[in-house]
Amino acid sequence: MEFDLIELIRQRTAQPRDDVRLGIGDDAAVLAVPAGQELAVAIDTLVDGVHFPRGTAAADIGWKALAVNLSDLAAMGASPAWALLSLTLPQADRAFVEGFVEGFVQLAKPQRLALVGGDTTRGPLAVSVAVHGFVPPGKALTRQGARAGDAVLVTGTLGDAAAGLHALQQPRRDDDGRDGLRTFLIERLNRPVPRLAAGIALREQAHACVDVSDGLLADLGHICTASGVGAEIDAALLPRSSALLGLYDDTTALQFALSGGDDYELCFCVPATRLSQVQADLSRLGCGVSRIGRIVAGAGVRVRGHDGGWLDGGRSGWEHFA
Ligand code: ADP
Ligand code: MG
Repeated sequence: MEFDLIELIRQRTAQPRDDVRLGIGDDAAVLAVPAGQELAVAIDTLVDGVHFPRGTAAADIGWKALAVNLSDLAAMGASPAWALLSLTLPQADRAFVEGFVEGFVQLAKPQRLALVGGDTTRGPLAVSVAVHGFVPPGKALTRQGARAGDAVLVTGTLGDAAAGLHALQQPRRDDDGRDGLRTFLIERLNRPVPRLAAGIALREQAHACVDVSDGLLADLGHICTASGVGAEIDAALLPRSSALLGLYDDTTALQFALSGGDDYELCFCVPATRLSQVQADLSRLGCGVSRIGRIVAGAGVRVRGHDGGWLDGGRSGWEHFA
């Protein structure tokens, strides 16, 4: 039965590519990296009840397992080519695999991404996807390279996925007329859209880039550590969706935007001289972009509140310093 599932996966994900010499079906895939390109690789695992709530639809898991990996390639400015899929399933559940592959392919197909191999085993539900992408030599966008004076920008809106998770866990009131907002936030949690075109556009422009998977403060903090700089963020400049602001008060929405995970937007640093060019380039791609602060000498990330004072992210959340 395991071979039936592998055959199902092979058929539904079929994606002809010249650089796949040998795909699913042998002991290993054989792949040809195009001349003059470097290979960027990443892997991420999603565990049932840890990285997605129990009961998440199979198609959503399939989409998200690939999306979180493509987001890592986006943050490097790489274009995706191949993937490996390790599926651990409690039983040989054909309906689950069909749903999973449907969500996976919805995202893979438009990218012409080929699934070239994987592993299928029995155990508690967990999914690992590894992705491979190409980037011109020396052009990968990294976390290093941010400089004092750079503008800090993010794509899209922040905090939606964390709010979606919170909304899922709340008892539902049928008559409050806000189902549309709730659905939007849950969709942002289950179906993140990796910012691949933006990442490629930023390759020649940004000094440093990271995808926001663990929350803005944590991930911008990674840029600061890797680059040996600090950052100052303006709370008033954080892009927040009307759904987030419609369902949560300002303090809670700010907390989600600063510390919530799973947004898969890009946070990046560009020299001030390139700011308007980069904003125009991303807008042309249909990608929302906001300047949220700047890189400074020093270390760590500080957040300026609406009245100009620094916020404290201690025990009580994002409050003013006493
Ligand atoms: P082996 O025992 O040699 O590792 P398997 O029986 O595990 O081979 O897998 C057979 C073929 O199917 C291999 O090419 C493998 O890459 C592929 N495969 C197995 N599971 C998956 C999966 N979940 N997704 C994609 N390819 C898979
Ligand atoms: Mg195997």
